[in-house]
Amino acid sequence: MSRFLVKSELPYCKGCGHHLIVRNTVKALEAIGMEPLDVVLVTDIGCHGIVDGNFATHTVHGLHGRSVALAAGIAMGLPPEKKVIVYIGDGGATIGLQHILEAARMNVDITVVLHNNMLYGMTGGQPSGLTPTGFRTVLTPQGYPLPHHDIPRLVLDAGAPFAARVIAPGDFADVLRQALEVEGFSLVEVLGICVSYGVKMNPDLRLKELARQAGYEPGVWTGPTRPAFRPARRETTSLLETLAVSQRYSSPLEGRLTLILGGSAGEGVQQAAELLAQAAMSAGLYATKKGSYPVTVGVGFSVAEVVLSRTPIFYHGVSQPDAVIITSADGLANQRERIHPMKGGILWLDESLPVPETGAEVRVRDFRGRAGARNAGLYALLTFLRETGVVPPEAFVKTVQESPLGKHVDLAAL
Ligand code: SF4
Repeated sequence: MSRFLVKSELPYCKGCGHHLIVRNTVKALEAIGMEPLDVVLVTDIGCHGIVDGNFATHTVHGLHGRSVALAAGIAMGLPPEKKVIVYIGDGGATIGLQHILEAARMNVDITVVLHNNMLYGMTGGQPSGLTPTGFRTVLTPQGYPLPHHDIPRLVLDAGAPFAARVIAPGDFADVLRQALEVEGFSLVEVLGICVSYGVKMNPDLRLKELARQAGYEPGVWTGPTRPAFRPARRETTSLLETLAVSQRYSSPLEGRLTLILGGSAGEGVQQAAELLAQAAMSAGLYATKKGSYPVTVGVGFSVAEVVLSRTPIFYHGVSQPDAVIITSADGLANQRERIHPMKGGILWLDESLPVPETGAEVRVRDFRGRAGARNAGLYALLTFLRETGVVPPEAFVKTVQESPLGKHVDLAAL
């Protein structure tokens, strides 16, 4: 078995052309001497995407039609010797067509392998924007009435230096190899018929004949060469690097602590939680912070989830929080269902609020009255640190002082 695969048995229907795409991709990668962990395979929804688990490369599985956008972001952050390959179906290419064209226009350093079986295979055989005129699908049993997009032509028009179309079956590893060696954007469209839906609806059609009738010409085309798009790297260290190296305090936390801060939108909840995470990092901990709030960002609840840990955090979900801090009625209403089943941990609650039913220890404090609505979250977190010592309170005060908020709030005085 190739070193690029962890399982050789592929998850596709018997006879599906996608098998060949994987085999040829592997052959092309081997031909250019890549190592599996120098390759990132980005897929999205569709039969093509269920192959992630077979590859020994890095794999990223995205939303339908978004694999090119995801891959573009990945490629922009990687050195040029890495390879970013996109697997996308004709359905995904239709949905994410603008992403494909923009990546081609920008000459982002990715190779897109378009699995064109001319219909949405995974969802039952509906037509896509690449279904050719006359092709019968479950929704167009009399034949599809519209012309298809010609993706290689479109990407070349958008500025891609390389585009190709191959008609499976066959050995097209050399075309993929050429695409992988391009500096910048390349696209290889591989034409096949879905044996489960395409063949069933079009039993008399042979792929080559279908391609000929539809005007799907095989070929390799090149556009003007130009440097691949790479955003300029900033000379200054990133915020993360700055934070990661500036340990000035120490924390007694041994394991992991999960914390929820719930308040109202517009009251600085997210910023307060971010500052707590930064303070924790300045005390030698790992930290993650997630926020949630309604799309109307200035009204309703605002909730932040913070994980602090002595060791790297690979999962930042919080199901059973150790600490919940609630500063407003919006936060309480939003978190009531999480607070109710708590069997341990501590709930810090603003004194203006009714005490909810919970198995947690409840500590009622005056956050809003003391610090005002705008700073209630900050003060609540300071109170939490003063009472637990998980992170030295002075680390939090210092972090706030050094932030843009420092000019507006004197946390030490609270
Ligand atoms: S449904 Fe069609 S496209 Fe999907 S794996 Fe089966 S044959 Fe291939």
